[in-house]
Amino acid sequence: MRLDDYDPGDDIQDLGRGGGGFGGGGGGGMGGLLFGLLPMLLGRRMGCGTILLLGVVAFFLLGPGLSMFSGSSTSDPAVDSSGAQAGAAACDTQSERFACQVFSSTNRFWASEINGYREPGLRFFTKENTSGCGAAQSAMGPFYCPADQRIYLDTEFFSELANRFGAAGDAAQAYVVAHEVGHHIQTITGISDQVRRAQQRASQAEGNALQVRMELQADCYAGVWANRARNKDGQTVMEPGDMEEAMRAANAIGDDTLMRSAGQRPVPESFTHGTSEQRMTWLRRGLQTGDPRQCDTFNASL
Ligand SMILES: [Zn+2]
Repeated sequence: MRLDDYDPGDDIQDLGRGGGGFGGGGGGGMGGLLFGLLPMLLGRRMGCGTILLLGVVAFFLLGPGLSMFSGSSTSDPAVDSSGAQAGAAACDTQSERFACQVFSSTNRFWASEINGYREPGLRFFTKENTSGCGAAQSAMGPFYCPADQRIYLDTEFFSELANRFGAAGDAAQAYVVAHEVGHHIQTITGISDQVRRAQQRASQAEGNALQVRMELQADCYAGVWANRARNKDGQTVMEPGDMEEAMRAANAIGDDTLMRSAGQRPVPESFTHGTSEQRMTWLRRGLQTGDPRQCDTFNASL
């Protein structure tokens, strides 16, 4: 991708690693953590906290790579973060810098698109920390917290995207960041609130179906940014091959694909982000039209 450097005026911080208390017994094992997290994530319906919820399932079933959790069993949002490394420099690694560049580009674009646009914040963390929506855990994948309007990202996810999910490349990473910014757009336009209210009256399956529409709209918004954003030289940010990279990522993190790779039969009622096909369809729609009005997933047949 062809991106300008990030804007140092943007609200970006590196929270480092939170003081979650490592060295506990870990007797509950990973399963305990998983099933403790599931209802918490679903109950809170965080924008994208569940982006890789099923990925978590995959992690558990696939085994390797889980050692990063060993000993950690707390997911209590009230946990004191006094052990956190205070404010390390942000945007200082290659992965962080790229995420910062995408973040700044999305802010420039959406500010030109939406009257009264308020920028979200971007918070990097390592392994675990706290967010305005409770615990931030790497295994949750990147997420947007509507309560503090910040995106939480452990850039280690970019490596997993490439190595575990087979979606390498800068455009795959940009899609992830732009998707989270898409949730911010939904928050400032009031769509998130509408959906949350509807979900409170809905069954679990209906609530999940609404969540899928939210996620697909965020995918579409990511595509709109990629289509329309220009760098300071007036060039499109997308280079040859970038669309394929982004589509590969959308394909890799579809609910059905994640469940299959975890050795499970896909259960559509449990989907919260949409199938690989749906995610590619809506990302493509944004990428091809560059028009946010084409992202009305709530009045479309999916
Ligand atoms: Zn999401």
